[in-house]
Amino acid sequence: MMNVVEFFRNLPKKQCAKCGDVIQEQADCYGNTCHDCEGPAL
Ligand SMILES: [Zn+2]
Repeated sequence: MMNVVEFFRNLPKKQCAKCGDVIQEQADCYGNTCHDCEGPAL
């Protein structure tokens, strides 16, 4: 069996595709960009 926590820890941190900053919050709707680059999703 695999420890789920260990699995996610081994995953590489998400980086913004535009500015290269590490994306802290994991959310599918944000894709590959950080908050600043994503802008208002209206
Ligand atoms: Zn960015």
